[in-house]
Amino acid sequence: MRRGKKLCLVCHCILNGNSKVGGSCKYEGANVEVVKALMDRGYGIIQLPCPENTIYGIRRWGHVKEQFDNNFYRKVSRDLLNPIVDEIQDYINDGYTLEHIVGVFGSPSCGVYHTCSSALWYGELSKNENLSDTLKTVNCVDGSGVFIEELINIIEERNIDTKFVEVRESNILPQW
Ligand code: SF4
Repeated sequence: MRRGKKLCLVCHCILNGNSKVGGSCKYEGANVEVVKALMDRGYGIIQLPCPENTIYGIRRWGHVKEQFDNNFYRKVSRDLLNPIVDEIQDYINDGYTLEHIVGVFGSPSCGVYHTCSSALWYGELSKNENLSDTLKTVNCVDGSGVFIEELINIIEERNIDTKFVEVRESNILPQW
């Protein structure tokens, strides 16, 4: 059978839920429903690296976008993304298409339309006498995570035509 020449980029934990912050993954390994939806479309699936695991490791706490919104995190994100977008660009130059980029609902790194936010979630938690009040300031808000913001910038800089979608952990398929 002829190859379809259709590609998608997926955030790392869609294929490997083990990379998520401890306690937050609702599927065993890969997000089967999302992967099946991509396979049904005939896409070749390219996995992005997990920026949080790369920088903070598997025993990290859950973070909010404000903690990653700094020059170092953005630079490492771009360093991780550029070689992959280089590869995508070579495909595109040869007649392939990047159909979708699939992000993760609510992630401070990989959210596309929703991210996790708090101006107060930082610092020495054991010295925080109002920890439960501080926790209540952590909310899901409109906006992209830092890693995806950098990916959007790179995609725009290179004039690559594609569509961004995001999926939830609980296997809810996106409307796309
Ligand atoms: S959403 Fe992004 S940063 Fe978070 S676990 Fe998945 S790939 Fe890693």
